[in-house]
Amino acid sequence: MPPFPYTPPLPHLPRRPNYVINFLTYILRFASLPRAMSDQPKEQTLAEQAPASYECRACGYVYEPNKGDNNRNIPSGTLFEELPIDWRCPVCGAKKSVFQNIGASGAPSGFQENLNYGLGVNRLTPGQKNMVIFGALALAFLFFLSLYGLG
Ligand SMILES: [Zn+2]
Repeated sequence: MPPFPYTPPLPHLPRRPNYVINFLTYILRFASLPRAMSDQPKEQTLAEQAPASYECRACGYVYEPNKGDNNRNIPSGTLFEELPIDWRCPVCGAKKSVFQNIGASGAPSGFQENLNYGLGVNRLTPGQKNMVIFGALALAFLFFLSLYGLG
């Protein structure tokens, strides 16, 4: 009787299947990473969706569009660009031109840097990616078969 957790014998494999395993592992990684990251290429990053905040370079006050400006009766949701031309920094009175766009405060930075990972496959369309992935899988399968043929 075989010992309890009985492991069924592996099917006959060529003596060095590591090439195949490594290759398949690589293909799977190659296939899953870019798909997870970029199958929605039109999706905006959080920083692009959120309105930009502006910082007063004179005093450091940050105008956040989501908060507006209670002192000047600016309702929340007002973009900095929509503020009246005579709007001044509520802290130090600096003009709008002194303010600097600091992007959406608190939002994570974009996904742009991810585009160059995955050997450039992230720039491919989903259709092109599927071609690459399944083409590579078919190649791996043929390679596997050829090893059996050698044995
Ligand atoms: Zn200021």
